[in-house]
Amino acid sequence: MTGLVIVGHGTRSAAGVEQFAALVERVSGRGDIGDVEGGFIELSRPPLTDAVGALVARGHRALVALPLVLTGAGHGKGDIPAAMAREQQRHSGLSYRYGRPLGPHPLLHEALEQRIDAALAGADRAATEPAGADRAGTWVALIGRGSTDPDANAEVAKVARLLWEGRGYAGVEPGFISLASPSVPAVLERLRRLGARRIVVAPYFLFAGVLPDRIVAQSAEFAAAHPDLDVRVAEVIGDCDALADLVLERYAEALGGDIRMNCDTCAYRVLMPGFADKVGRPQRPHDHPDDPVGHHHHHGHDHHDHDRGSVAVVGGGPGPDDLITVRGKALLDAADVVVVDRLAPQGLLAGLRPDVLVVDAAKVPRGPSMAQEAINEALVSHARAGRRVVRLKGGDPYVFGRGHEEVQACAAAGVPVTVVPGVSSALAAPALAGVPVTHRGVAHDVTVVSGHLPPGHPDSLVDWAALARARGTVVLLMAVDTIAKIATVLIEHGRAPESPVLAVQDAGLPDQRSVRARLDEIGAVATRDGVGPPAVFVLGPVVALTTTGPTG
Ligand code: SAH
Repeated sequence: MTGLVIVGHGTRSAAGVEQFAALVERVSGRGDIGDVEGGFIELSRPPLTDAVGALVARGHRALVALPLVLTGAGHGKGDIPAAMAREQQRHSGLSYRYGRPLGPHPLLHEALEQRIDAALAGADRAATEPAGADRAGTWVALIGRGSTDPDANAEVAKVARLLWEGRGYAGVEPGFISLASPSVPAVLERLRRLGARRIVVAPYFLFAGVLPDRIVAQSAEFAAAHPDLDVRVAEVIGDCDALADLVLERYAEALGGDIRMNCDTCAYRVLMPGFADKVGRPQRPHDHPDDPVGHHHHHGHDHHDHDRGSVAVVGGGPGPDDLITVRGKALLDAADVVVVDRLAPQGLLAGLRPDVLVVDAAKVPRGPSMAQEAINEALVSHARAGRRVVRLKGGDPYVFGRGHEEVQACAAAGVPVTVVPGVSSALAAPALAGVPVTHRGVAHDVTVVSGHLPPGHPDSLVDWAALARARGTVVLLMAVDTIAKIATVLIEHGRAPESPVLAVQDAGLPDQRSVRARLDEIGAVATRDGVGPPAVFVLGPVVALTTTGPTG
């Protein structure tokens, strides 16, 4: 059965942490779900990473992540998905379905009603007032957290209305304890002017915390200034059966349903007065100090289609899965589309989420000379469709990888593009074969050269004579077909015929092998031994230092 991780933001309130833990216990005790853990993205223990780690350790690879938030604001929309993305970096193959925010929901409205009734219990009632008149004479100030996200604030207003409907209160007015207005004193003053004599301040909060405490303090202050008013503060919703029921409902919904945020009123998509700057703005989750891992995000739900697309040109290293950089891997894990080269680490593709589109760049439909243009076009068009595109290349993108052409194409199309350097085969292949490309007292320079065009080719930009005169290391890429000619020209211009050369084929891969020969013999030996691409040739005195590695 799919495990559930309940994700809280975290609080400085010990009581809040206890209530969260009690709810996790309660949900777990229901037995409806095989495996439940709870964790926080900051401030409180246990951290989310422990909760996910525990589920993964018990064999879960697919989870439901339920943000324990009442409204969909920054924590639910950005921070918790970002934290989950970090977990996906930690646990390869981990997937999750992302649940909806809890509210608005009738179970919450009933719980609020009970907290309000409890606050009203014992309210002075004039002898002439019938039972039930408590409500008719009671105004409710429903106080939400408040957000810079108008959609989240609107949800609180909606809950206020729903709480009022059919329950017989004189009225329910929304207010906010932070970031949005009306403030607690402002909404209380409004009710006073409307003629309210009895007001229940109902915090629209799941658990105890700094903000609910502030609601109590501000209400008490207002009450002290208005002794003629009866002002009471209800309890927060807290750990209760209704909340556990709702968590189970959201879990089932995440598993079976089509979970969408409320995109019609999303500030990142719709221009709302006063929030124009948010439209199209990429989400920047704030850093969570309890989690040191990088900070990109991935929405595990249908919210990202109105983020702007982007391209990352990622160097995948020489071939093995684990010679990509951490940054490259993180971007790969968050990608919607991966455009991959033949020499890029193919093993990494197996770890992608099943819904990721993998485009084989070698198979992009094109005319004979169109390859690069067709690839550039694919990058741009996927990014323009709002997708996160990773262009996964072998080695380093800027070492004979045509990476910069792709970057230029994206930039020219106005598509956000970044480059992630990679471990180039130019340095990795010699190292993996036991050759240090520099060594104290042996070689103080290393030159990386393309052998794609033979010496004397009119388009060649290489000064072969200078390379022949230099004393250091030369690493040749794409030189399988040209190595004999290159060796001849180097000797002609002064390299010693007996200089050692090492050919390293399939570096880092299971078939890695090396072939060694003198410079004047390397062409013939490579042909005789069937050296084929991908291979690099290392030339220079460092080759004499070769340590016997796995393929020695
Ligand atoms: N950007 C890549 C190089 C692209 S050119 C990088 O930085 O590594 C392609 C050439 O790279 C091949 O012809 C070969 O010379 C070299 N190459 C790439 N992967 C290799 C590997 N695993 N083993 C040996 N050579 C490799």
